[in-house]
Amino acid sequence: MSEGMSEHKPVAIVTGASRGIGFAVAETLAKAGYDLAICATREATVNAAAEKLLACGGQVSAHVVDVSDAEAVKIFVQGVAKQFGRLDVLVNNAGITRDGLAMRMKADDWKSVIDTNLSSVFYASQAALRPMMKARFGRIINISSVVASMGNPGQLNYCASKGGIDAMTRSLAQEVGSRGITVNAIAPGFIATDMTADLGDDAHASLNSQIPLGRLGSPQDIAAAVLFLAADSGAYITGQVLHINGGMYM
Ligand code: NAP
Repeated sequence: MSEGMSEHKPVAIVTGASRGIGFAVAETLAKAGYDLAICATREATVNAAAEKLLACGGQVSAHVVDVSDAEAVKIFVQGVAKQFGRLDVLVNNAGITRDGLAMRMKADDWKSVIDTNLSSVFYASQAALRPMMKARFGRIINISSVVASMGNPGQLNYCASKGGIDAMTRSLAQEVGSRGITVNAIAPGFIATDMTADLGDDAHASLNSQIPLGRLGSPQDIAAAVLFLAADSGAYITGQVLHINGGMYM
């Protein structure tokens, strides 16, 4: 879905924006005046999200893209830059879990998490660099996780993917800083989305007791920080991992 084109509004891509943190990020950016391109793997949900985002004002372009597919991501990102004539912000948010203890983890569960959470960030960032370098401006914001720093039993594939994001963030920030492009990661703690919904009430109560602020985070807690990094407020911040976790990891 796409409506008209505007010459002057900043343009942001948010991957995995059909729900959860990605949707909250897209909504916050839309309300702040960004034109948006979003993607997810299911047409019905990504189009429904785009409908809601259109109500915030601005243009919204919705795409079905599996971010683990290198060629599809390249076509998506290059197509958005061409369609809107610019690309200011890339939020690499799409992510999955396939939990299991190391002894029993299937190679497919290792590979799908690494491909979806980590390789995707490389594919999308690489495709975004050309338009950003040309404009001598860009903001790349990667959604990592607190478990990249803490570790988590049963999630070694997920932790490895997020640790890789943190390392990639620092390397890319050093490569492209001179071109006016900042690269940062946000490491959420436990956030109330579909990803954490299956944990159950007991696990939630136990988690809350380990979080100094006494609650799970909301998707908006993360979205506010994405906007901070994307806007002028983030101009001198690069190569950082910003932890947003209610104090559960310091
Ligand atoms: P979520 O509610 O499960 O939503 C995930 C989003 O990613 C959906 O829009 C999903 O859309 C999309 N997605 C999944 N696989 C995809 C693929 N291969 N290609 C394109 N899109 C894909 O997850 P969330 O909790 O909002 O998490 C968002 C990000 O924050 C993830 O990177 C996650 O690791 C990270 N994070 C979350 C938490 C937490 O506690 N929730 C904590 C730390 C970090 P479809 O299903 O339609 O494809």
